[in-house]
Amino acid sequence: MAQLTDDCFAFGGPMLSVDEAVGIIAAKVTAVQEIERVPLDAADGRILARDVAAPLPLPPFTNSAVDGYAVQGNDLPREKEKAFPVKGRVAAGSRAPTATPGGAVRIFTGAPMPEGTDTVFMQEDVRLDDKGDVVLPAGLKPGANVRPAGEDIPQGHVALKAGQRLRPQDVALAAAFGLTELDVARRIRVAVFSTGDELASPGTPRASAQLFDSNRFMLIAMLRRLGCEVGDLGILRDERGPLATALKRVAGEHDLVLTTGGVSTGEEDHVKAGVESVGRLVLWRMAIKPGRPVAMGIISGTPFIGLPGNPVASFVTFVHVVRPVVLALSGATPAPLTPMPVRAAFSYRKKSGRREYVRVSLRRTADGALEALKFPREGAGLLSSLVDTDGLVELPEAVTAVEPGETVGFLGYANLM
Ligand code: AMP
Ligand code: MG
Repeated sequence: MAQLTDDCFAFGGPMLSVDEAVGIIAAKVTAVQEIERVPLDAADGRILARDVAAPLPLPPFTNSAVDGYAVQGNDLPREKEKAFPVKGRVAAGSRAPTATPGGAVRIFTGAPMPEGTDTVFMQEDVRLDDKGDVVLPAGLKPGANVRPAGEDIPQGHVALKAGQRLRPQDVALAAAFGLTELDVARRIRVAVFSTGDELASPGTPRASAQLFDSNRFMLIAMLRRLGCEVGDLGILRDERGPLATALKRVAGEHDLVLTTGGVSTGEEDHVKAGVESVGRLVLWRMAIKPGRPVAMGIISGTPFIGLPGNPVASFVTFVHVVRPVVLALSGATPAPLTPMPVRAAFSYRKKSGRREYVRVSLRRTADGALEALKFPREGAGLLSSLVDTDGLVELPEAVTAVEPGETVGFLGYANLM
């Protein structure tokens, strides 16, 4: 069973920086141990559970990189062109003939190098004389246009590492090794609830003082992109007893329980009280904007995270708290977010000591640079501010101001999940 150790409770009091928070999380979470074997066509996006060493070299045999003529390097003309009789022919997938000394073998891309040859002339660089011999120009280096066995990956090299999230090119490599299946970590199971009396599920009637629940669908989608199996558990009302019962009921069947809303410290914030009645909980105050306190806890041994209800705060805290927890629970190697430098097209004032995220759209300037345009409004409840932008500009703790033209770090939404 995945775990979050009790130590997270030691960090409830003071303000945590984002890096401190992520560091604590990464150190406290134990990954799922179950491994499952999946066919290659189901491996994309999964977390590799064991290293994969190359069972054969790639390429598996020395072959030609071009269409042309294979010769022995020692026979190459040094000063002026030289004619070689063409003895034999080898296409991709065929067995190569043995070359005769002083002769050339017609060869095609991917075909094995004939015994006794080590160099290939591209067909564009040669001509045939009237006897049908191939005339090679001077100047080619011995060994040119040949792909030696193992030049891509030598046999035995650990080419895929446990903990990496498999991408299409990684799956291709496993296929090139002749593997049909890979060992991956079991998907983690995450329970997702929204909380609030003001929420109506899309598809159900909405009372005049209600709004449709949007966070749950955002969180489910982000979790799925991170490779989780998600239990959509609907909306919990602002009522401590039923909320606590529901959380306790699902905790045993999931590796993580996630809620949004109800975790500030107001009297209508029932998640805090609900969790405390069935488990342990601490409110993490992170020095981050947008973002409100994030609740961290344990219910029946299962980690619990309560995100703020405002959609933008929910999104940003998901990225900084839920994402690292999910990666750690999934057995993934931690993947720090690396902002890409872009040019700010806005000015901005901020508090020192707090990390802030500015929602921006990217535009290419006349001189080819990428420029970040700030979304004109700042409310943490504005879904349009996430929908109409491309990503977040990350302003580190020490920064207090940004002026147009300065270089800032950009995190594209696609890289955050
Ligand atoms: P709370 O964190 O519960 O105090 O909620 C903060 C704000 O976010 C309130 O305006 C809520 O109506 C709104 N909110 C909370 N949960 C959701 C949700 N699931 N979808 C959309 N808005 C929400
Ligand atoms: Mg609420």
